[in-house]
Amino acid sequence: MRRARVATIASLLVACAASPTAPALRWTRTVTVRDPRVLSVETCFDGTAPARMEALASYDPTWRARHRDGSEREHRGVEIPSEVRCVTQTLALDAAPTREEPATLRHRGWWWRATPDDDRLTVQTRFELPAGWSVSSPWPRDGAVFHVDASTMAWEGYTLLGPLHRTEHTVGSTVLDVTRVGFRDDDTLDAARWLGDAMRAAQTLAPTVVLPRVQAILHATARGSDTVHFGLASRGGGPSVLFLVDPSMTTAGMEREWQATHEFVHLFHPVFDDRDAWLREGIATYYQEVLRARTGRQSAAQAWASLLAGLDETRDDRNGATLADESAAMAHTRRYRRVYWWGVAWVLTLDVATREATGNARGFDDGLRALCEAGARETLRVWRARDAAAVFDRATGVDVWGPRLDGALAGTAFPDVDAVFARLGVRRDRAGAVVLDDRAPLRALRDAIMHGD
Ligand SMILES: [Zn+2]
Repeated sequence: MRRARVATIASLLVACAASPTAPALRWTRTVTVRDPRVLSVETCFDGTAPARMEALASYDPTWRARHRDGSEREHRGVEIPSEVRCVTQTLALDAAPTREEPATLRHRGWWWRATPDDDRLTVQTRFELPAGWSVSSPWPRDGAVFHVDASTMAWEGYTLLGPLHRTEHTVGSTVLDVTRVGFRDDDTLDAARWLGDAMRAAQTLAPTVVLPRVQAILHATARGSDTVHFGLASRGGGPSVLFLVDPSMTTAGMEREWQATHEFVHLFHPVFDDRDAWLREGIATYYQEVLRARTGRQSAAQAWASLLAGLDETRDDRNGATLADESAAMAHTRRYRRVYWWGVAWVLTLDVATREATGNARGFDDGLRALCEAGARETLRVWRARDAAAVFDRATGVDVWGPRLDGALAGTAFPDVDAVFARLGVRRDRAGAVVLDDRAPLRALRDAIMHGD
């Protein structure tokens, strides 16, 4: 998952969060499309208008205001006079949206907001669209009204408009709202099955955490490649995932594919600070293999082979940086794999240590479930690894993570996963194939990880 904001701004947002007792602030907004290349956005304020409003997109700098006395007038700039009750702006699109190329509006680009952001704000939003058009958005909806909260501006998110190819699929407690972009009628990808399997697997991490609606955007790319080329999970305005995918992906491709599981796992854990990217990516990368073994999409041996291969490929790629520094600099250095798998090394180590300390009664699953329950829905709260370790250790009842955290962050090498694999009985034979040794001391624990016991 990538974040639109740097950590320091995210932290500021939290620091500025209104107290729970502050009254809610409500606007109503209507997005009207009469000319398919022009969005008219009217916002009415419940109470006093904000002093300033801004958006990144190139709106027409003049806007119309309706005043409390009923008069209307044109204004320019970002300052809003206090007697204004409603403002109407117009936004020109590059082209009229089509099913192949709908309007894709990045929230932080077009969504007019008060500056500074106010965490109490909800914008009740309606769309008045041409016949045949619809809306794909992560925002929770109640009939025709979308409830847009402050997380829309805190994290990345997209709204699609146009004559969309949109379908809904119920997966346990979640409705997947799937929009296909650039797909042809003869494309064979069974999106309901592919995404449904992955979502069902992710839901097992925290069955009490319900995500009522998840937006999924599938962009067609590279027909014949039989795979997913890019995945992204976002939390802005609500949970969403975006994939660049071969629209002709086969059943065999879906069975091999791990990115959907990875991105759905991200929607359940708390929002972690970018300085702790190792933690969120370690969790998603470890569980993309574990959950696919538990749900029968790969064997336990295949899952262990993938974990071993990823760790082997990245653990010696040292540059003297600590785990904390590698994570904080990941977006600039682009050493993603190093950070992801360093995280996996720690998640595996903590899983095994927790299971050993509790006689295999509890493991990483239990700590992670507690983290998801505490943080999945509070998407304006940004967690650090230390917060996570405290919740985790309380849930598992053993002090496994807290005492290891400072050393982990200051370390310049992966923890000793060779020793862990040796005790689990995961090793390579002479030909390089991964074999599971049933005489290993932690064999039962190894099997429990991949069975979900
Ligand atoms: Zn990820």
